[in-house]
Amino acid sequence: MKQDYYEILGVSKGASQAEIKKAYRKKALEYHPDKNPGDTKAEEMFKSAAEAYEVLSDPGKRAKYDQFGHAAFEGGGFGGGSMNMEDIFSQFGDIFGSAFGGGFGGFGGFGGGQRRVKGSNLRIRVKLSLEEIANGVEKKVKVKRKLQADGVTYKTCPTCNGSGQVTKITNTILGRMQTATTCGTCGGVGQVIDKRPSGTDAQGLKVVEETVSIKIPPGVEDGMQLKVSGKGNGVPGNGIPGDLLVAIETEEHPTLKREGDNLHYDLYISISEAVLGSSKEIDTVGGKVRIKLEAGIQSGKILRLRGKGIQSLNGYGSGDLLVHVNVWTPKELTREQREFFERMQSDENFEPKPEKSDKSFFEKVKDMFS
Ligand SMILES: [Zn+2]
Repeated sequence: MKQDYYEILGVSKGASQAEIKKAYRKKALEYHPDKNPGDTKAEEMFKSAAEAYEVLSDPGKRAKYDQFGHAAFEGGGFGGGSMNMEDIFSQFGDIFGSAFGGGFGGFGGFGGGQRRVKGSNLRIRVKLSLEEIANGVEKKVKVKRKLQADGVTYKTCPTCNGSGQVTKITNTILGRMQTATTCGTCGGVGQVIDKRPSGTDAQGLKVVEETVSIKIPPGVEDGMQLKVSGKGNGVPGNGIPGDLLVAIETEEHPTLKREGDNLHYDLYISISEAVLGSSKEIDTVGGKVRIKLEAGIQSGKILRLRGKGIQSLNGYGSGDLLVHVNVWTPKELTREQREFFERMQSDENFEPKPEKSDKSFFEKVKDMFS
C-alpha cells in the first residue's frame, strides 16, 4: 500500500502551493542523500517526497490524485511513481533557487564520478480516434532523434579537468563560501569532443530517424501527455537520453459524443416507428449494434447501454453509452396523411397521458449523474 502524498509531505489536503513547496523543501533537506550516505531508508523517503511533490505541485495532477488516488497514475506513466534520481535533482533548481542547484553535491553518491547529463526531450502529437481511445492502442511513430554518431572520440574537458563542475570561492560575511556550478565548456559531462566524423553536429550527434512504438492506455483525454522514457535526444559521452513526450489529440467522432467515460448518441426515429416499435442500428466504439425499441416509446427517452462507453483510465470499469431517442416529425404531409392525423386529434388514445415512469428531462438528467 502506497502512502498518501499529503501524509508524506505532512500537509493537509487543503494545503496551498506555498505550503506544499515549503514542506517538500524541508523533507528534501532532511533526507538528502548527501546528508544520509548509505542510508537506504532515507533515500526511499527522499524519493517518496519528490514523487509526492511532483504530483501535488501540479494543479492538474493534484486534482487527478484527489479524485482517484494513486490509481490515477498507474499504468499510463503520467508522471508520479516513475521518478529517477536525475528527475529529482533537476527539480531542485525550482525549489532551492539556482544558487543552490549545482552546489548541492549534484549526483555525488549516485554512480560516482561526474554528473550524468540528460539529453533534451522530444515532443510529438498523436491524433487518436474515439475507438482508439476507448480500447487503447499501440501507435508506431517516426521520430527524428539526435544520437551519438559512431567514430566520435572524446577528451577530458580542459576547463573542469573532467569533474563537470567549476568551483568558485567568494568571501562573504559568513566566511568563505564555496559554490559549485556546472562547467560551461562541457555542460557538466566532463568531456569534450576530440574527433568527430562529418555529418555530425558540434556535439558529435547526428539525426537518426527511428520508429518508436507507443502504448496508449484506454481512456486518455485530449491534452494529456504521455512520457516514453529514454526516447528523446541523446547526449555526448555517458549521458542519458532525454524523453519522448507525446501529446494526445482527439478526433471528433461523427455520431458519438464523449462526456467523461460516458458516450452519447442521438437516435432519430419516425412517428410510426415510435408508435409501432422498431429495431435500429446504432454506432458504438466496438462497431454497429442493433437495439430494439418497444412500441409506444416516448421521444426524449434515454436508453443506457451499460459498459459500452470508454474504459476508465484508472482501470476500473467502463462508462455507458446513452442513446437519446428523438421522434422525427414530418413538416409536410400528403392529403391522406393530413386527414389521418386530423382524425386522430379528436381520438382520446392520442391524448398525452404521461405516467410517473415518463420522467421529465430534468429528472432524467438528475438520474444520469446519480
Ligand atoms: Zn568541463
